[in-house]
Amino acid sequence: MSSAIGNQAVVVGAGIGGLAAARALADSFERVVVVERDTLPPDPVQRAGTPQAKHAHVLLAGGQRALSDAFPGFEDDLVRSGAVPLKVDLDTRRERPGYDPFPRRDFGWLVYSMSRPLIEFVLRTRVQQLANVTLRDRCRAVAAEVAPDGTTIAAVRCATADGQGETIPADILVDSTGSGRLTLDVLRRLGGVPEQTAIEVDVGYATAVFAVPGAASDWKSVMTFPDVPTSTRGALLLPLESNRWMVTAIGRFGDKPPGDRLGFLAFAAELRTPTIFDAIERAEWVGGVQRFAFPASVRRHFERLESFPRGLLPFGDAICCFNPVYGQGMSVAAQEACRLRELLAARAGDSDPLAGLGPAFFNEAQVLIETPWTMAASLDFAYPQTGGQRPKDLASTLAFGRALMRLAAHDPAVHELTLEVLHLLKPLSVYRDPELVRRVFATFDA
Ligand SMILES: Cc1cc2nc3c(=O)[nH]c(=O)nc-3n(C[C@H](O)[C@H](O)[C@H](O)COP(=O)(O)OP(=O)(O)OC[C@H]3O[C@@H](n4cnc5c(N)ncnc54)[C@H](O)[C@@H]3O)c2cc1C
Repeated sequence: MSSAIGNQAVVVGAGIGGLAAARALADSFERVVVVERDTLPPDPVQRAGTPQAKHAHVLLAGGQRALSDAFPGFEDDLVRSGAVPLKVDLDTRRERPGYDPFPRRDFGWLVYSMSRPLIEFVLRTRVQQLANVTLRDRCRAVAAEVAPDGTTIAAVRCATADGQGETIPADILVDSTGSGRLTLDVLRRLGGVPEQTAIEVDVGYATAVFAVPGAASDWKSVMTFPDVPTSTRGALLLPLESNRWMVTAIGRFGDKPPGDRLGFLAFAAELRTPTIFDAIERAEWVGGVQRFAFPASVRRHFERLESFPRGLLPFGDAICCFNPVYGQGMSVAAQEACRLRELLAARAGDSDPLAGLGPAFFNEAQVLIETPWTMAASLDFAYPQTGGQRPKDLASTLAFGRALMRLAAHDPAVHELTLEVLHLLKPLSVYRDPELVRRVFATFDA
């Protein structure tokens, strides 16, 4: 550990973003304090501050590799805690219109399936092992305090469980609250909130957990995609630790999955294929049905602001909150943490390493966000009901995507490339390769 950059970094929020950010900061600050409003449980269980954790959380390979870089042995930790290894794209039955299932091939790479509380528990345990990081739960950040110069963050004011309250000094304050409220409050006080882009997707989730029945199947996980744009119904069946399945049913606009067992089953029975319904119809329920409403994806353009408070860094969902159906948020947060760590290391020798850190980080984050955001946007706007600024080339992008899938179904190398983009291992720009474009266009005539 070196203290090249500052004495104390404070991270607000011990979700995936906050934990990953704490790891990134630990190399460059004497101390890192993570404050979390919830009581942090000693086990992988739900907590109030992350209600989304009751629903399926897919950790893409891009996020998994970023977390493994930050915490060597992370994948082994997941498996030891009960996560289920899945061979991409062999163990998952992906059902797309025209391909029920999409060809299943073994590309030799593994992802892991587990509950979101388990991912967080493994990360939290690793962060707790870092000598210079302290996790303080039942400590709710109320406001960021600005130094007398009016442009530098000095501390964060917190409400603590004993009712006394505390002001914690911070050379850098990372806002991993999910909402970004601390950052937006400061920017409002200082006179400029960022522009934002929103895509009104109006998605509804309903999730139930089942004991895995004895009968064997030739898959470990199932994804059933809707027939866009005529249907919005899709579902995901994931294996969890402790021999359970989590089934998340997804709908949009006027067709959201209901919150009772009978309604949940009826919704599943009307999916495009019977695979998930057949799997759960007679399975034993573990608990009831949980619902979640997600109105809009939101991307905040901090990079467009002319100036930004020194020592303040919004992070993860506070910068960009993705439509959850594509499973991108945790992975982008993990990748942001890798970039932050590299940025801090590169600045360690500078006379003022924190000068301009915010804008430099936002530029890096924008590059990471571009692929998942653009990919999700074109799929979301395929529904005419989706609100927001439609890309001008939407029709041709969607046609290209359909043709690319046709090619991927026949060609294992193209199939693997599409998975690498989907899992955030490669940028969307790889699809501009002239030879690939020629082959994709050739399928239009086939
Ligand atoms: C329904 C749903 C399903 C999703 N599925 C996936 C998926 O499959 N794959 C994927 O990668 N992503 C998924 N996501 C997104 C994912 O949950 C987030 O992107 C990810 O958790 C990173 O978020 P974060 O750390 O920025 O915020 P969060 O994980 O939401 O954490 C914020 C933390 O800050 C704490 N906090 C908030 N305010 C304060 C305060 N004032 N003081 C102290 N603590 C505070 C909260 O208690 C919480 O612990 C899904 C999201 C939703 C809504």
